[in-house]
Amino acid sequence: MYILKANCIPVKGYKRSILYNLQNNTYDYIPNSLCELFENCRTTNEWYTYIIDNEKEIIDEYIEFLLANDYLLDTKKLDINCFTSISFAWEECKEVSILNLNYEEEISKYLHNLNVFLVKSRTKNISLQYIGGLKTLNNLLGTVKDTYVTNIVLYLQYKQFKGCLFEKLISSNPLISKIVLLGADRFSIKYIDTGKQIPIQKIESILINSEIKPMGFVINKMYFIEAHLYNTFFHKRLFVSKKGIISLTPLSDRIADISKDPAKEIINRKSIQKYWLIKKDSIETCKECEHRYMCYDSRIPTQENNKWYYMSDCGYNPYINKWVDEDGYWPVNNTSPCIKYQNLQLNQPENRSPFRQII
Ligand code: SF4
Repeated sequence: MYILKANCIPVKGYKRSILYNLQNNTYDYIPNSLCELFENCRTTNEWYTYIIDNEKEIIDEYIEFLLANDYLLDTKKLDINCFTSISFAWEECKEVSILNLNYEEEISKYLHNLNVFLVKSRTKNISLQYIGGLKTLNNLLGTVKDTYVTNIVLYLQYKQFKGCLFEKLISSNPLISKIVLLGADRFSIKYIDTGKQIPIQKIESILINSEIKPMGFVINKMYFIEAHLYNTFFHKRLFVSKKGIISLTPLSDRIADISKDPAKEIINRKSIQKYWLIKKDSIETCKECEHRYMCYDSRIPTQENNKWYYMSDCGYNPYINKWVDEDGYWPVNNTSPCIKYQNLQLNQPENRSPFRQII
């Protein structure tokens, strides 16, 4: 008799499901019918009582697939109550995880306030977009040293730094984990060895990601749990403009001025969490997508009539399981086929999906 391993978790989508393996950080697409077996039965033995006679072969095929891919555990006749589920506990703390900082020389007058904010918010990671000279950059990185920051990704202007070797900068600032040079004419990457390999990337520009790609999916236990509770892009992330304005997104939702507002008061504001709690389960379309706990999405959700949704298309349609580059794709917010499809099918609850081959 087999049961599903505790760290293997099925996630049901509108038309198909995903089975996570959070031990190996991998996943497989599975039919919704297999997901329903997991939902309704604890052991594989129970599956045979749940189906009708002519579906037995398909159940055998499911078990064969699950065993071959390391999803099942042989209970060896032990009481199945001995096998517990994994904990989804999330330890909440108020610290800011990522601060996207836009820094120009004019912000130097707020360096002290910035330092206080970093300490009070216990910021761990900084994504620093910097325009200015090397001297001011060194001053700024010096300020960061006395805080809780453990990781800095540095975005510099290619034109300004194209001859720079970076060894000295990296050796004297060990918190730098990556340097990205913006404004290069083509992408390239090289590594600098200073005891660890630090990537130096050249790119054209930073794009606000609107199209989701499978290669950008994040599959691990922490991300999976966080995605059940929070918006994984905005959770604990703040943006600071070159004028010292703190906002919730790169484009809007100003909440404070680093030069005037006390750091502790900013961190305790309820409004700081506006997008943190808008998880994929709260967003139209995404809440029916099988990728919703692995999808890394930097788009800003919008609210209308008490519903959250995205203004742009992500490039995947969970109602037909197709990506934008596949034949037969149409975007979910493409009004005519979408409305037609919704009227015809989305409002008709399935009683039970037919048993299907493993995808
Ligand atoms: S529909 Fe939502 S969850 Fe699914 S891939 Fe697109 S953005 Fe991600």
